[in-house]
Amino acid sequence: MKTLLASSVIGILGGGQLARMTAMAAARLGFSCHVYCPSEEEPAVAVCAAHTQGAFDDVAALTRFAKAVDVVTLEWENLPLAALDVIAAVTPVFPSASVLRVAQDRGLEKRFAREVGVGTTDFVIVKSADDLQSAMAHFPLPAILKSTRLGYDGKGQIKIEPKMAASEAWAAIGSDEGILEAFVDFDKEVSVIVARREDGATTAFPVVENIHRNHILAETYAPAEIALDVAKEATALATQLATQLHVVGLLSVEMFVLKTPNAKGQRVLMNEIAPRPHNSGHWTIDACTCSQFEMLVRAVAGLPLGSVEPHSKALMLNILGEDMGRCRSWVADPAACLHLYGKKESRDGRKMGHVTFLKGAW
Ligand code: AMP
Repeated sequence: MKTLLASSVIGILGGGQLARMTAMAAARLGFSCHVYCPSEEEPAVAVCAAHTQGAFDDVAALTRFAKAVDVVTLEWENLPLAALDVIAAVTPVFPSASVLRVAQDRGLEKRFAREVGVGTTDFVIVKSADDLQSAMAHFPLPAILKSTRLGYDGKGQIKIEPKMAASEAWAAIGSDEGILEAFVDFDKEVSVIVARREDGATTAFPVVENIHRNHILAETYAPAEIALDVAKEATALATQLATQLHVVGLLSVEMFVLKTPNAKGQRVLMNEIAPRPHNSGHWTIDACTCSQFEMLVRAVAGLPLGSVEPHSKALMLNILGEDMGRCRSWVADPAACLHLYGKKESRDGRKMGHVTFLKGAW
């Protein structure tokens, strides 16, 4: 694998806050970043040396972008795979289209996990209201119906209670394919971020606990308060997925910790994967020597992976539009590490920034 040196240019597909924080970490290592996204208003544009404005199906613009950079990474897994093919013909892209293909589809993701020995909740794929009705007859309820593609932060999903009409639930997800999942009565929700280089070297950040509100991540606690053997199981599971998927870059894995082991003796089930930096890893900027963003840059640039050892425990709070009024007190609080993404328009539920509180020595 080629090792990129300072002054090389890292291309980033997508211009949101994950791209912005990746570019800031890359700058620290002497790289410059070139972001590709449809609007110049996006958070990453202000901190990148160059911007190509274009849609993700604009072959000419994608090709121009690919020719201007040394390597490409991405901040969003739901990009058209054809865009990655256009870029890969010119310059290396990490993670590859084959990783994205799996990560874009909740059904493929769970099937893949099971094939490599990683536990998931029971599920069945449904393609119509009739399909759903017959699946519901054989499935333990309550259950959760999600669209297999393009769902995030709770969008495109609905909890199915006994006696609910299949047609109503089907209409609610607004998709032509759904995954009906058994409801997991979990103890905790946790996540692990694994970094992997092209030569197969991996490392994983510590397991953290996530609290969601209205399906959006609200708080991350580092470390997760779980038994050592459960933390080992979660880390092994995430590393197994990153390895078997041949991810180059990061794989973020959201998991459920069960109250008691299932029939296979598993205490941890995979819920969802994302081959990119993750909201539950933002605490690493302030509490670790090497953040998840620097780790991504190192992995795609072929540099040695950084340390995943935190120096501090941490609590990260997401700042949504409705929380912006609290920034005045956070910016005045010496214990608060405030990060704002420079979004011009604030809306309820929109991620505007985050704040990390360091909680003493790790
Ligand atoms: P997801 O979009 O799959 O990440 O789901 C969003 C949130 O819904 C998760 O973080 C859980 O809190 C909850 N959730 C999703 N799937 C299930 C499930 N099968 N059982 C229980 N809760 C779930």
